[in-house]
Amino acid sequence: LNYAKTHFVLSAPDINHLPVDGGVEIAFAGRSNAGKSSALNTLTNQKSLARTSKTPGRTQLINLFEVEPNCRLVDLPGYGYAQVPEQVKRKWQQSLGEYLQKRESLKGLVVLMDIRHPLKDLDQQMIDWAVQSNLPVMLLLTKSDKLASGAQKQQLNMVKEAILPFQGDITVATFSSLKRTGLEQLKQKLDEWFSQ
Ligand code: GDP
Repeated sequence: LNYAKTHFVLSAPDINHLPVDGGVEIAFAGRSNAGKSSALNTLTNQKSLARTSKTPGRTQLINLFEVEPNCRLVDLPGYGYAQVPEQVKRKWQQSLGEYLQKRESLKGLVVLMDIRHPLKDLDQQMIDWAVQSNLPVMLLLTKSDKLASGAQKQQLNMVKEAILPFQGDITVATFSSLKRTGLEQLKQKLDEWFSQ
């Protein structure tokens, strides 16, 4: 697919406001500040498709983008932002779980994690929900340019080990929006999921 053709469709306040559950959707999730907006911008070769905000956690909306008819990218709200009230956090977590478990058109989940701080509780929760729903997962270890190549490999291997107990269809790759590392691997995986 030509990801450069991706365009914004709509923002939804919650999963009940998403468009009709048809076609193929691939969701992007991650803690606030994990580099999700940057990754979406890099993938689509657009400077500000997904807003890269200096204020993490500000966007609590689900943003939908269309690559081509019936092929959508879903930018889920960043989680784990400390300044969000506990009740709001719980509501979001619940609706994220619901989306992952109930959305028929959802064919894959990309979870973005800072390579220096991977697999926090909520990351593991996302992976767990996806695996329970037989949803394939791609884990991107973002901002890989922040580590030397030896340390990158170490983190990659550590994450690969740590996810074995999940027993799911999980792919792990290092990623850098700055250096465009892992971009081809991401596109390949998305192509695979979209073509099912
Ligand atoms: P989001 O909250 O997950 O959407 O994260 P953003 O994409 O807004 O990125 C959060 C911060 O990390 C910003 O200051 C980005 O400039 C920075 N960042 C994102 N991707 C990279 C990367 O590949 N390398 C480096 N060095 N910094 C990055």
